[in-house]
Amino acid sequence: MKKRISKFILIALLIFAFPSISSAQTWEENLKKGATTTEKNYMNNPFERPENWKTIYTTPDIWPISENRGPIDRSPKDKTTKVLVLGTGTPTPNPYRYGPAMAVIIDGYPYFIDCGEGWWRALAHSVLTQNSLDLSSIFALKNLKYMFLTHLHEDHTVGLPSFINNSYKFGSGADKKVFGPEGVDEMMAHINAAWSIDRHEVAQGSLAYKPEGSTATGVPVWPETSSEGRQIFEDERVIVEAFPTKHGYLEHTYAYRFTAKSDGRIIVFGGDGTYSKGLVEAAKGADILFVEGITRKNVKYASWGGETEKEKVEVIGTYHMFPARLKRVYDESGVKNIVLVHVQNFNNPENFKRLGVLQEMIDEGIKNILLAEDGDLY
Ligand SMILES: [Zn+2]
Ligand SMILES: [Zn+2]
Repeated sequence: MKKRISKFILIALLIFAFPSISSAQTWEENLKKGATTTEKNYMNNPFERPENWKTIYTTPDIWPISENRGPIDRSPKDKTTKVLVLGTGTPTPNPYRYGPAMAVIIDGYPYFIDCGEGWWRALAHSVLTQNSLDLSSIFALKNLKYMFLTHLHEDHTVGLPSFINNSYKFGSGADKKVFGPEGVDEMMAHINAAWSIDRHEVAQGSLAYKPEGSTATGVPVWPETSSEGRQIFEDERVIVEAFPTKHGYLEHTYAYRFTAKSDGRIIVFGGDGTYSKGLVEAAKGADILFVEGITRKNVKYASWGGETEKEKVEVIGTYHMFPARLKRVYDESGVKNIVLVHVQNFNNPENFKRLGVLQEMIDEGIKNILLAEDGDLY
């Protein structure tokens, strides 16, 4: 009883000492009122359209996209090979999407594809929101070992220091191998060197120091420059082949084709890029192609690529996948399903539609196409 009284006095004191706590609109009061408030405040209502929408931080492409839903399980129940979408973001700073990152999970073991911004917390996001698999066990530190990079653009690689250093901070993990285009060996050597102070301090502070998992090795893959693929990896669970793709002016960019040995599922990751013979070859007869997409209808609102629409079509078309080009990949490869990730959905605020790019792809005649959200399972 005595304890309760003193608690009461303390609360009363706090209210008198800090009257602003009770008079200002608090988080609790906002919650009581519901998600929508009249205040123009992002934390109150993320669906509120920003007033000055033309800056890189406010353009509609950073607004909530995809359906208004949480992560779901769209994977076939009779297959043990699953694909987890960790992040679907692009360089546009969309706070609803992690940077580009995927994982193929075969017999409970993960193989990672691309390592975008926020990679380490994207794992936690998926573990917390996707309950169809025991992702906590699948992402055990010793399993964070194999990474396959489609290309070396910053948005697909900036999570690498996290991939190495964050898991190391929580215990000795596996020796990491990062497969990717020419230059990946240099990139990994630089990352290892750049964080050497951190690594050595962690080792010093640890009573049970083990060097395993503290650095990563870059393994360059060079398939022939023809559209033919080349096997670059095999273990007891999977065969991985790389196929050259076309993405801007990068000399080496790849699509990866994973063939699971246990259930025969074939999953292809197109990475970034426009139509290419290599991508068609990679996706031939595959179960799913995970691929990027960009609006053609509203490309004039793109926040990059030139001043006029003509310029934007030419520049952006060299880098990314317009709907008509994805239709060509779809027709020529005979791929069974397409899942869009890394979508660039530019528009003006009045006409912004969250499923705009997906709709353009469907209008182009692509059937069996879905739009992914971070945390989805396929
Ligand atoms: Zn990208
Ligand atoms: Zn790129």
